[in-house]
Amino acid sequence: MQQNTLTEYPGNLYVVAAPSGAGKSSLVKALMEVDAGVKASISHTTRAPRGQEVDGREYFFVDNATFDTMVANQDFLEWAQVHGNRYGTSRQAVEQRLSEGGDVLLEIDYQGALQIKQIFPHAVLVFVLPPSWEELRSRLQRRGEDSAETIEQRLVNAEQEMAQAAKFDFVIINELFERALFDLKSIVHAQRLKYAAQSRSRATVFSALHII
Ligand code: 5GP
Repeated sequence: MQQNTLTEYPGNLYVVAAPSGAGKSSLVKALMEVDAGVKASISHTTRAPRGQEVDGREYFFVDNATFDTMVANQDFLEWAQVHGNRYGTSRQAVEQRLSEGGDVLLEIDYQGALQIKQIFPHAVLVFVLPPSWEELRSRLQRRGEDSAETIEQRLVNAEQEMAQAAKFDFVIINELFERALFDLKSIVHAQRLKYAAQSRSRATVFSALHII
C-alpha cells in the first residue's frame, strides 16, 4: 500500500510504547473499555503463549517459518525482534479498520513505533514512562512474573528503550493510574480534533460547508 493512501485514511493510528513494567498494557486495556472507537491491533509473534493467553486474542502465535513467509509477503506494516522473539503488526487488519474510519492502537515496542512513523507520519506516538527507577523495579518485582536476573535484564533494556522517548509525540508519566489514563484519553481526543483528522473523518461535513 502506498504512503499517500495510508495518510488519507479517515481513522487515526495511535502507537503506545513503554519499557516493561511501566503499565502500558493496563492503560491500553482501560482505554479500550471506555472508548469503543479505538481498537488494539492483534500482533503476530513467534513467542510461545504465556499463562491464560489465547491464540487470536492477545496475539496470533506463529512459528518462525510462518513469520518468515509473512515478512517476505510484506504482510507486516512493521516488525521487530524484541527480547529474543519476533513481533509484527498485520498490514491488512490495520489498513482495513483505518479505511473504515475506525481508530487503531498499536501496543508495540519503540523500534516498531519508529517504523510506523516513517510510513505513516500522521500516527500519534505515545511513550509511557515510570515515575522512577525504584518504582519500575518494584512494579516488576510485584508482578511476580520474572526471576531476579530477568528483572535486572528488563531494567537494562528499559534504559535503552527510554532513551528513545524524545522521538515520540507525547509522554505519559504513569505515577497515578487514573491520571495516566486521563492523559491517554486526552491525547486520543485531541488527535481526533486536529484539522487534518477532522477533515478526513468528517469529510462530508467539511465538503457541505465548502471547506474542502
Ligand atoms: P510481550 O511478549 O511481553 O507480550 O511483549 C514484548 C514486547 O513486544 C512489548 O514491548 C510489546 O509491546 C512488543 N510488541 C508486541 N507486539 C508487537 C508488534 O507487533 N511489533 C513490535 N515492534 N513490538 C511488539
